[in-house]
Amino acid sequence: MPKVVIIGGGPGGYEAALVAQQLGAEVTVVDRDGIGGSAVLTDCVPSKTLIATAEVMTDMAQAAELGISFADSEGDAATQLSVDLAKVNARVKSLATAQSADIEGRLTRRDIRIVKGLGRLGKRAGVGGGEVIATKPDGSEEVLHADSVLIATGARPRVLASAQPDGERILTWEQVYDLDERPEHMIVVGSGVTGAEFASAYLALGSQVTLVSSRDRVLPGEDADAAEVLQDVLERRGMNILGNSRMASVTRDGGVVTVTLADGRTVTGSHCILALGSIPNTEGLGLEEAGAQLDESGFIKIDKVSRTSAPGVYAAGDCTGGFMLASVAAMAGRVAMRHFLGDAVQPVDLKEISSNVFTSPEIATVGWSEAALAEGEIEADVVKLDLSGNARAKMQGITDGFVKVIARRGSGVVIGGVVVGPRASELIHPISLAVKANLTVDQLANTFTVYPSLSGSTAEAARRLHRVD
Ligand SMILES: Cc1cc2nc3c(=O)[nH]c(=O)nc-3n(C[C@H](O)[C@H](O)[C@H](O)COP(=O)(O)OP(=O)(O)OC[C@H]3O[C@@H](n4cnc5c(N)ncnc54)[C@H](O)[C@@H]3O)c2cc1C
Repeated sequence: MPKVVIIGGGPGGYEAALVAQQLGAEVTVVDRDGIGGSAVLTDCVPSKTLIATAEVMTDMAQAAELGISFADSEGDAATQLSVDLAKVNARVKSLATAQSADIEGRLTRRDIRIVKGLGRLGKRAGVGGGEVIATKPDGSEEVLHADSVLIATGARPRVLASAQPDGERILTWEQVYDLDERPEHMIVVGSGVTGAEFASAYLALGSQVTLVSSRDRVLPGEDADAAEVLQDVLERRGMNILGNSRMASVTRDGGVVTVTLADGRTVTGSHCILALGSIPNTEGLGLEEAGAQLDESGFIKIDKVSRTSAPGVYAAGDCTGGFMLASVAAMAGRVAMRHFLGDAVQPVDLKEISSNVFTSPEIATVGWSEAALAEGEIEADVVKLDLSGNARAKMQGITDGFVKVIARRGSGVVIGGVVVGPRASELIHPISLAVKANLTVDQLANTFTVYPSLSGSTAEAARRLHRVD
């Protein structure tokens, strides 16, 4: 029976473990912090649970337009909704812990061994696998023999010497769930996906929010039209977005946090979240000694089937950089195991990845971007339809958002799309399916959609891309 040892129990590691066991391997997972990894314990699951509460608050804020008014037990109109952040965060943490236990249960029921501890490659690693050394919490070591090793150790928040988190008011995204009162004024530094999501969430939860962005707009890496809609909505709801503002330092004096910008301006608030990107957990793993190459930022270099340059050593997930998403980590881990164990492998195609920014409104994207078209990388046509013209959107009071479909010029094959709106993460799926299955705009347009529905706009956008010769 081939032996597989996986270092790291996040989605990159645990999904790989399940596939390897299914394909007949004896599998051991060495994990430091808890099965589910950062995805379940500190990042993805907790943030989306917090955002679930924020979503309800956003809906409630719009309820009056739909004819709903709130009254207290005496029948007097309630003037404001409030959030009990201690309760919200208790729910967040218990859900994350339960999810981790659920996944651990799935692994152990499938006879996958879990070793709690710190893993590193042993001496013979890299020569067709070799050994992994696990250092357990009591300091003892166990040598695990492996025909193949998968490294899935993830990444952690980047922090700067001039902006040290204190876990109370200056916070990384992993520390926000210890807050038991709603921050009066949250300053979010960083306007990438993580920064935008937290800024949008705390705004909905009732905090005053300032977003400090070193670029001229929020979400510099996303579709420009989508980012414009989001920025407009957030500013309309009262967020202060400081563009072209590079943070130089963050300091705290009692209950006041001061963010000093590179040009000398200062912003003060009650709390600050640092969303400055991630650095890979690749130190001390014995990777270079085993012959695995890292890039200049410390991410492990892998090929399309997740192989490192060390024979028998694979890597998946955030420790390899690229698209740092739970779904991508899971797919890369599965691909690694299928490759090692001789199963049919479909290499990860970056152009098929769908992703979502969980702001309000959400922004979901798949495939080729309009920016790539503008740079001449591919010839394609684009149709963008605002949701404000959609019947269901009107009924639901949705005024912001759009559907964008991108199709290859000539063949009309759908190669990308963007959806901005409530639950865009669900609405992107038909476009993702079209991209994956090489469907044409006509096939997408001629698929029945429910009337009235927001997905009707996807079909309509495809219809407008129909070629008339
Ligand atoms: C705030 C936030 C929100 C996010 N939301 C989403 C989202 O909505 N959707 C999405 O797809 N992605 C989301 N992501 C990204 C997602 O969390 C990551 O892409 C995902 O966690 C990567 O999985 P992984 O298995 O590579 O690593 P991780 O989930 O980080 O797991 C790595 C595991 O390895 C362990 N480990 C590290 N070193 C060692 C060692 N030497 N020995 C043993 N164990 C070790 C760690 O303790 C951890 O348990 C979000 C990220 C952030 C920061």
